[in-house]
Amino acid sequence: MKKFKVGILGATGMVGQNYIRLLENHPWFNVVYLAASSNSAGIAYGESVKGRWQMTTPIPEKIKNIIVEDVSNISRAQKKCDFVFSAFEISDKNLVKEIEEKYAEAGIPVVSNASANRWTEDVPMLIPEINSTHLDILEIQKKNHKWNKGFIVVKPNCSLQSYITPIHALNQAGFPIKKIIITTLQAVSGAGYPGVPSLDMIDNIVPLIGGEEDKTEDEPLKILGTIKDNKFIKNKDITISATCTRVPVSDGHLATVNILFKDKKPSKEEIIKIWNEFKSIPQDLNLPSAPIHPIIYKEEENRPQPKKDRDNDKGMATTIGRLRDCKIFDYKFVTLSHNTVRGAAGGGILNAELLAKKGYIK
Ligand code: NAP
Repeated sequence: MKKFKVGILGATGMVGQNYIRLLENHPWFNVVYLAASSNSAGIAYGESVKGRWQMTTPIPEKIKNIIVEDVSNISRAQKKCDFVFSAFEISDKNLVKEIEEKYAEAGIPVVSNASANRWTEDVPMLIPEINSTHLDILEIQKKNHKWNKGFIVVKPNCSLQSYITPIHALNQAGFPIKKIIITTLQAVSGAGYPGVPSLDMIDNIVPLIGGEEDKTEDEPLKILGTIKDNKFIKNKDITISATCTRVPVSDGHLATVNILFKDKKPSKEEIIKIWNEFKSIPQDLNLPSAPIHPIIYKEEENRPQPKKDRDNDKGMATTIGRLRDCKIFDYKFVTLSHNTVRGAAGGGILNAELLAKKGYIK
């Protein structure tokens, strides 16, 4: 099979580096184009990340000598890429939105990690196991903008990946959930590189991540929502209350979750069975990055733990443990997801695999 030619925008950052690592031997995608800020542009990738390569594997040989381009130089990408992964960070979100739209306008599909387009009316916020039908909006998106080949698909914030699939699995099994209280313990890699100053992080927990609680509470409502009259309608049946904290862990966002069911309350055994047996479109389609088991329940009392469980099923699975009764809601549990893999680059790659398999990326 001829591989797709892929570009990475924000290739020098934490998420960009993970894209490079995860795509090294990808069966469908070949990285041919790298872009970052004007500070990195014009020099070989190996040079541009000298002293700040964060992966434990070396930079792939064929990537080292690629000259980094400026993200805003879209015509260069147009000549080389079938689609791009967007993982660049600019504080002005309107500018990120504008740049991603320019790529789509130039006929380059954008598979994004950035938050800028998550609430754009005709942009799907995709988790392939949950809402692949939301891709139906892409025809409307292309029509709205008069885009021919290009489009934008985003993935949600990394903080919700650990609990949204387990919630969806229960909803889908006929046990809809009404209320969720969640407290996240988020890894430092979630803040990019160099991220949070070490003196704030060592021997400490930071009880606020700016903007994160709103994302954790609101984004699931779009993901679990529906499309009506060519627009997304938020799920109104669920209310979420979140507290998001930063903890001195390198990778892996842990969360404690309390849930209240809308009507029927399943037994613990039923819940664990639903989670362990959950499979969806990526598994049916055998997508290369799909976890075999999207949700893994650990019986051990002291699991999940970031160090021991974040890499489960290629870092793409959600690992849950400690399901028990809650004296205020129905149940509580602890859940974990790898933030820079499933919550960032791996999630983006799975989105692109679905888009390729379904013929959206040509
Ligand atoms: P990061 O480590 O700070 O990397 C930022 C990247 O953006 C670098 O490649 C940087 O290039 C580039 N950049 C900075 N200023 C730019 C500009 N003016 N124009 C073009 N490119 C610019 O951040 P990150 O953690 O990789 O996050 C990247 C994106 O993914 C963000 O939108 C973030 O919210 C999202 N995300 C991150 C995670 C995570 O776990 N880290 C999870 C989900 C989503 P230079 O090296 O040249 O400065």
